[in-house]
Amino acid sequence: MPEPIWTDVDEYLTTTLIPADPVLDAVMSANKAAGLPAIDVTAAQAQFLQMLVHLVSATRVLEIGTLGGYSTIWLARALPHDGKLITLEYEEKHAQVALKNIADAGLSRIVELRQGRAADSLAQLQAENAEPFDLIFIDADKPNNPVYLEWALKFSHPGTFIVVDNVIRDGKISDASSTDPSITGTRTMFEQMGANPRLKATALQTVGAKGYDGFALALVIS
Ligand code: SAM
Repeated sequence: MPEPIWTDVDEYLTTTLIPADPVLDAVMSANKAAGLPAIDVTAAQAQFLQMLVHLVSATRVLEIGTLGGYSTIWLARALPHDGKLITLEYEEKHAQVALKNIADAGLSRIVELRQGRAADSLAQLQAENAEPFDLIFIDADKPNNPVYLEWALKFSHPGTFIVVDNVIRDGKISDASSTDPSITGTRTMFEQMGANPRLKATALQTVGAKGYDGFALALVIS
């Protein structure tokens, strides 16, 4: 559970730094009305992700884990008109809500949502000889983080930036004895990151309205 002070600070930062946005407010309302879990990134985190898209001058973004499309819309808005964002979502209901949110945000031309198991969609992308992506955001089922990192590396070029959400998990990530598949999967992913000479990696611990968690960040250097 988030500490009240973290939520207050998040609220202060969001209202001070991030302009009100009726489109994004409508996305959150639609997600809630459809009964989607409130596990999207916060506005402050989404702004950070959007800044990364700008910083790497991305034209192609891959997102694994769409939910209702909240992070998708933030990411896609930073792309140029001829940019492309492919987002992968397993749950049909989530995909339907996201597709409407993306259309309402005027981003259907840039965003392609593929519904199904991400591992299958990634294999399909490879079969289609998909071009590499400039930024890859991994935010789906955490036990599969090692699988998604491997796929991210296949779809990378030097300069690709890889972000993985929810990697701290209330601090449980440091528990080597954990048998929670989300923890063991994420720990394996960190080990892969640390051992791979193609990657320069770190992680940022975060607190805020969604509690104590964090992002893993990896730059593909070769
Ligand atoms: N990125 C979203 C945002 O910030 O707005 C939140 C994504 S939510 C944390 C994780 C999503 O991954 C859920 O919608 C869930 O249905 C989806 N998911 C879980 N397992 C999946 C899988 N095997 N393949 C694709 N999507 C999956």
